[in-house]
Parts: sequence; C-alpha cells; structure tokens
Amino acid sequence: MANHISITVDDLREAVRNDHLVLHYQPEMTADGARMECVEALVRWQDPERGLIPPRLFIPLAEKSGLIGELGAWVIRRACREGAAWPGLMIAVNVSPFQFRDPGFVDFVRATADSAGLPFNRLEIEVTEGAYFDDVDRAQNELRRLRALGMSIALDDFGTGYASLTYLRRLPFTKIKIDKSFVDECQSVGAAAIIHAVVAMSRALGLKVTAEGVETVEQQRFLRAAGCHYLQGFLFSPAVPARDISAKLAALNAAGQV
Ligand code: C2E
Ligand code: CA
Ligand code: CA
Repeated sequence: MANHISITVDDLREAVRNDHLVLHYQPEMTADGARMECVEALVRWQDPERGLIPPRLFIPLAEKSGLIGELGAWVIRRACREGAAWPGLMIAVNVSPFQFRDPGFVDFVRATADSAGLPFNRLEIEVTEGAYFDDVDRAQNELRRLRALGMSIALDDFGTGYASLTYLRRLPFTKIKIDKSFVDECQSVGAAAIIHAVVAMSRALGLKVTAEGVETVEQQRFLRAAGCHYLQGFLFSPAVPARDISAKLAALNAAGQV
C-alpha cells in the first residue's frame, strides 16, 4: 500500500459510517508456540477503490480530528461481537488515549461486551505509553474500573514511550507487551539484557509478558528461555480475517485439542 495515498477526515468519517472498516486478528501464542491464547483486533480500512489501507495511515488522522471516538467505538463493538463466537480465547482491543477522555468510556465498554455476550474476563484492553498517562489519577481510576469488571489491561509497545516505573506500580496492568524493536535486536547484549530485566520485573509485579513482532525461530527460542509467557509475530501468524480464526478453532476442535 502506497504511503502517499491521500486521506481526508470526510473520507474516513464516511468509511466508519458505511462499515468500510474491517478487523483482522493476530494470534498471541503460548511461548512454546503450541496454543493460541489471545487474538488482537487490528483495524483496516477496506476502501472499494484503494484496497486495504493499514491503520498507520489513518489512526493518527482519526486521533487528530476527534473521529477516533467513533472509530474506536466501532472497533470495540465489532471485536466484542466477533470475539463472542470464540470461546476460550482472549480478545485484545487497542484503545487510543483519546478514547479515555470520554467519561462514558468504561460504561460503553461494559455495555457493549455485555450485549455481545462476551464475558468480561475474555476482553483485554491495550493501551500505549503516552499522553494519556499525563493524568495518572484519572488513568488509575478508569483502568481500575475496567479491572474490577474482570477485564485485562495490557501496556502496549513497552519500552518505546516514557512510562515511568511509578505508572507500572500504580496502574493496574495485567500484561506488558515488549515492543518489536527489542525483539529485533535480541541477539545484541544490550537488548537481551533489557528483555531479561523487563521479564524479571513483570514477573515480580505479577504481570504476564508478551513479546511482539517475533519473526524467527531463534527469537522464539531466546524469548521463551527468557521467560516470556506469550509470543506474537509473523513466525506464527500475521493478522487474519475473523473467518480464519473461526477456521483455526474449528480445526483444533475437530482434533480434540480444545
Ligand atoms: P500494534 O498494536 O503494536 O500492532 C502490531 C503491529 O505490528 C500490527 O500492524 C501487526 O500487523 C504488526 N506485526 C505483528 N507481528 C509482526 C511481525 O512479526 N513483523 C512485523 N514487521 N510486523 C508485525 P498493523 O495492524 O498495521 O497496526 C499498526 C498499529 O496501528 C498498531 O500497532 C496499533 O498501534 C494501531 N492500531 C491498529 N488497530 C487499531 C485500533 O483498532 N485502534 C487503535 N487506536 N489503534 C490501532
Ligand atoms: Ca497493540
Ligand atoms: Ca504493540
């Protein structure tokens, strides 16, 4: 997909309202690669003329223009609905910091999961380090409410932002997702040391650890030995349409593995 494709807020608003968005799902596997634990919903814009447009080309615009509330609500509704059909699987949804500015956000998530029939303990909210942490008290309050409902909270892209250790102590995360940039470099002494330290810290805090962007068997071997609980990346699967997840689960069922 070309980088120079021009996108306007009006186009994007129309895409959201006309259901021209689609969710693909990328599995998070147990570190041995044997079992799918979770799927992360990743939005794409399916434009009739321009084809499948990746999120990096429109999420920033949605955030800048304020459309992210509506777009994010679409994502949560769709993910809860599709995810409800996959018993036993966690469904992770990326939530932009801006969505938390809406005081009705937590109630919306609760009501949406509820009406989709998705048990709260199968929903994971992924948040990134960033602007949202400016107001730690508010973040703490909102995230605690989600946790109290039984939902999980993942800290995404760990290591790329500026989350301080205080946030890790104060905010009720259940998982840390180590950013791909560390995984890419895990043959280097520096990145390996950081991964070991992050895993040790996470485990001491009682958090799960997922490593993102795993592409090679060597990376898997290292990350598994380092103690990561889950791995996600092209080595296992890219993000795929919902029907492919349903097919994977049906195949596992037929084989008596779930
Ligand atoms: P992310 O949440 O960090 O998602 C991981 C991105 O890395 C995905 O790109 C995924 O396809 C890609 N990826 C996964 N494994 C590998 C790998 O082994 N190698 C490589 N090279 N890449 C890998 P995608 O789907 O293009 O999403 C990009 C970003 O857009 C996401 O990064 C997330 O920040 C944002 N995003 C996607 N969907 C949503 C959404 O519904 N809401 C919000 N607010 N942001 C979203
Ligand atoms: Ca994510
Ligand atoms: Ca990430």
